Amino acid sequence: MRGQFKIFRFAGISVYLHWSWFLVAVFEIQARVGAYTAPGWNILEYLSLFAIVTMHEFGHALACRSVGGTPDRIMLWPFGGVAYVDPPQRPGATLWSLAAGPLVNVALVPVFAVVMMLRPGGNLGEYLYSVELINLGLLIFNLLPIYPLDGGQILRSLLWYKMGRARSLMAATIVGLVGVAAVIVLALRSLDVWLLAITAYIAMTCWSGFQQARTLLRISRLPRLAGLSCPSCHAAPFAGNYWHCPQCATNFNIFQGGACPGCGHAFPLAACLECGRAAPHSAWAQLAQYTGARA
Ligand SMILES: [Zn+2]
Ligand SMILES: [Zn+2]
Ligand SMILES: [Zn+2]
Repeated sequence: MRGQFKIFRFAGISVYLHWSWFLVAVFEIQARVGAYTAPGWNILEYLSLFAIVTMHEFGHALACRSVGGTPDRIMLWPFGGVAYVDPPQRPGATLWSLAAGPLVNVALVPVFAVVMMLRPGGNLGEYLYSVELINLGLLIFNLLPIYPLDGGQILRSLLWYKMGRARSLMAATIVGLVGVAAVIVLALRSLDVWLLAITAYIAMTCWSGFQQARTLLRISRLPRLAGLSCPSCHAAPFAGNYWHCPQCATNFNIFQGGACPGCGHAFPLAACLECGRAAPHSAWAQLAQYTGARA
């Protein structure tokens, strides 16, 4: 959380801004001087860009909450926003959490279209036209099927239904790596500093997603216990001794009796090793009939 400060809180979600935003704002506003007859419009235009970005991130955060996730905070960086959302690790829940961001931009398209029908002139007309293009640009950029952009993550969620958690991530990150290679060529040709920075960030995140998919794939082949499934991600628990007792350091299987065989310490909550959520043993048993009880 270094270099960040809270600007406001809405619906239980805190919005933070990074100090470097101001540096880039001055630079970007300067670059557009001349588009308007008064500099106030340049500032308004730049603030509007971030208002749209913030609404987009609130789309993700509120959708995540509606499926049982705990949206934490929204971070505004000079080149975009990030919503720290943690939807339940199921394809439907992640699909909705991801799609809700771009849907905010889709909802804004007719709003701008109606306003533009009034054919405002002068600075107001230039401003509205510019903000309309910013919204469309953000929508198209976010929908590129390059993991971790929304489009790439939406692709992953759709593939998840057919391919499962690990293979869908593997497929989406491979598509993303091919896509990012194309963007790197574009970025190097344009020598645009921001495009290069964003591309480097996307490439690194996509690569770590690919590594995560390899780990998930290895894990998915481990034997599992029948008749139980995680209330959050619906995966069946592992059959091995992968739980660790903090009292006596014994490794054991938490689903065999719910207590440590070394010291007898009781564990009323069992943590899912795949999605990280903990739930009472009864909740794991309740979902036993769920047909999709697999990773
Ligand atoms: Zn988004
Ligand atoms: Zn789980
Ligand atoms: Zn113990």
